[in-house]
Amino acid sequence: MTAARSLTTVAELVDAGLIAETKRAETAAVAERYAVAVTPSLVSLMDATDPLDPIARQFLPDAAELVTLPEERADPIGDLAHSPVEGIVHRYPDRVLLKAVHVCPVYCRFCFRREMVGPEGLGTLSAKALDAAIAYIAERPEIWEVILTGGDPLVLSPRRLQAIMERLAAIPHVKIVRFHTRVPVVDPARIDAALVAALKASGKTTYVALHANHPREFTPEARAAIARIVESGLVMISQTVLLKGINDDADVLADLMRTFVENRIKPYYLHHPDLAPGTSHFRLTLAEGRTLVESLRGRVSGLCQPTYILDIPGGHGKVRADSRAVEEADNGCFRVRDFRGTTHVYPPEDGQA
Ligand code: SF4
Repeated sequence: MTAARSLTTVAELVDAGLIAETKRAETAAVAERYAVAVTPSLVSLMDATDPLDPIARQFLPDAAELVTLPEERADPIGDLAHSPVEGIVHRYPDRVLLKAVHVCPVYCRFCFRREMVGPEGLGTLSAKALDAAIAYIAERPEIWEVILTGGDPLVLSPRRLQAIMERLAAIPHVKIVRFHTRVPVVDPARIDAALVAALKASGKTTYVALHANHPREFTPEARAAIARIVESGLVMISQTVLLKGINDDADVLADLMRTFVENRIKPYYLHHPDLAPGTSHFRLTLAEGRTLVESLRGRVSGLCQPTYILDIPGGHGKVRADSRAVEEADNGCFRVRDFRGTTHVYPPEDGQA
């Protein structure tokens, strides 16, 4: 199956044979609540005959998304609590997120920002809001790294990306610019010479963090897109979300991490899935995740070892999920110590941080 353009409605997904007619009504209810987009590259990668297909399950709406658990929340990692100006999240002293756009080429069904992204989401920063966000960075010499995320910043045109990079290039204390993106695997043709050139800024080092969750995402076209980025001199690192039924298997994870390394991408983060609404069918327990990550030790080279990360609900920051900062408690819960030394219970019992 191929498609000429991205599919963004349930009707289009049914017509393409990716969703059964019998599921039209229930998936339409999901699509009313959360954005849907599947690129042509992904359409051709999906096996519509396999209900457990790890590509399809990441991107096709499912009635299970209509179930929201008490501990799930609209802003699971607490972006809003750390947003001093629109478009900026300043959680740690030396780095900020710059969320210039809340649109993505695809909408992952487990997205931790699913209440913010999409056509009905927070949109693209206005020129005035971008001015204020850049001014915020320029006024704070402690900000060493700017992380462009969103949304997917690589949906912006090369002209707009270059304009942002030129403004960051003019801020002496910013040394590192990092892009978080899914584009090289979901829309590889978009990674052309103009876009790659726009990611560079004089005097700054650019990192591109690729979000990929299954080795099948590395099609020949995706591998070529990654090569265009790496061969232009940019550094690539990885992000993966540990997902039940998609990559919660030692062989799949090992294959995925090796595939990153073979493509000159250093495995960086393996995220424990966040408490985003309607995503419990993707979530495994911390104990299960820790066992899986442990199984990678010895199985694959040190080059292939990611850092297993839990974003503490409520905006308390990241913690290594397999470190002593995360301790199992009696009741199946965990006590988690954040980087400031404060302890939290995970998962939170009452929907609060
Ligand atoms: S690409 Fe990232 S921000 Fe966009 S839907 Fe997927 S996880 Fe969410």
